[in-house]
Amino acid sequence: MTGTIVKSTGSWYLVRETGTGQLHRCRLRGKFKHKGLKVSNPLAVGDQVDFTVEEQTEGAGVIHHIEPRRNYIIRRSVHKTEHAHIVAANLDQALLVVTLVSPATSFGFIDRFLVTAEAYHIPVTLIFNKVDLYDEDLTEYQEQIAEMYQRVGYPSLRSSAHTGQGIADVDALLDGKVSLLSGHSGVGKSTLINALVPDLELKTAEISAFSDKGVHTTTFAEMLEVRPGTYLIDTPGIKELGLVDMKAGELAHYFPEMRALLNQCRYHNCQHLHEPGCAVREAVDQGRIALPRYDSYVSMQQAEDNRK
Ligand code: GDP
Ligand code: ZN
Repeated sequence: MTGTIVKSTGSWYLVRETGTGQLHRCRLRGKFKHKGLKVSNPLAVGDQVDFTVEEQTEGAGVIHHIEPRRNYIIRRSVHKTEHAHIVAANLDQALLVVTLVSPATSFGFIDRFLVTAEAYHIPVTLIFNKVDLYDEDLTEYQEQIAEMYQRVGYPSLRSSAHTGQGIADVDALLDGKVSLLSGHSGVGKSTLINALVPDLELKTAEISAFSDKGVHTTTFAEMLEVRPGTYLIDTPGIKELGLVDMKAGELAHYFPEMRALLNQCRYHNCQHLHEPGCAVREAVDQGRIALPRYDSYVSMQQAEDNRK
């Protein structure tokens, strides 16, 4: 049988059977080596697997094959010696929920997320939530910010989990896809999930009943069914996603508006900070690159330099 991992405890996996949607508790047979990066978990939410159910009575199954991943995201390990943790695999898109008030999401947070998604080749749509709290000025400001991101390839939607405005648009965006839902705490992610996923309590109970049977392990992501074929991956407890270590000079490649200019700088190893003849700086001065985006680049570049 084939299925999708919807939750993992590290030793047990909850698998949704393709077609029937039935949930199975499974174990992994043998050792699976992840190619390349050293990871602490062989399987993650979103992984496509082949499994067999051996003990009909208990409904416990055995996973014996993992399909190659189209993509995956990891959590940055705090200690360099620690293996990376795969958060989720096979994502079609990511939705980043942001707010301009109560609390205001910083550009730094948004841009770090976008850089990460860019590195993983995962398209992102921004969801400006809590629009019911925006006055005229804030609405105008929101439109400017939305345009700034639209120009560099990130579309956005407006929503209010409270009034229901825009929820149908978010729902339409999810249709037929596996979407990661992310956001700074307090932006209304849980409220949105409640509005989007029917019978959420029931589904969550079903999933956590499984988790409790597993051993202590921290469980991060879970896949929720909006309807058959449409899934949301929630990552409670994960504040920010992590990048695999970047090589020097790679950061600018993950800013789409900078990418095209990189071979126009005077120095091939230009960091786009203070170097003369920098095409990126010139574009910033001429307003072709938005200042908040460039500021994010500078602080990320400095953070990267400090880590080394
Ligand atoms: P999370 O931390 O992102 O999961 O945020 P929650 O869903 O827990 O919401 C944080 C707070 O914002 C709660 O008090 C919600 O009631 C409130 N909230 C969520 N969505 C909206 C919205 O669209 N408008 C307003 N005014 N408040 C919202
Ligand atoms: Zn440069």
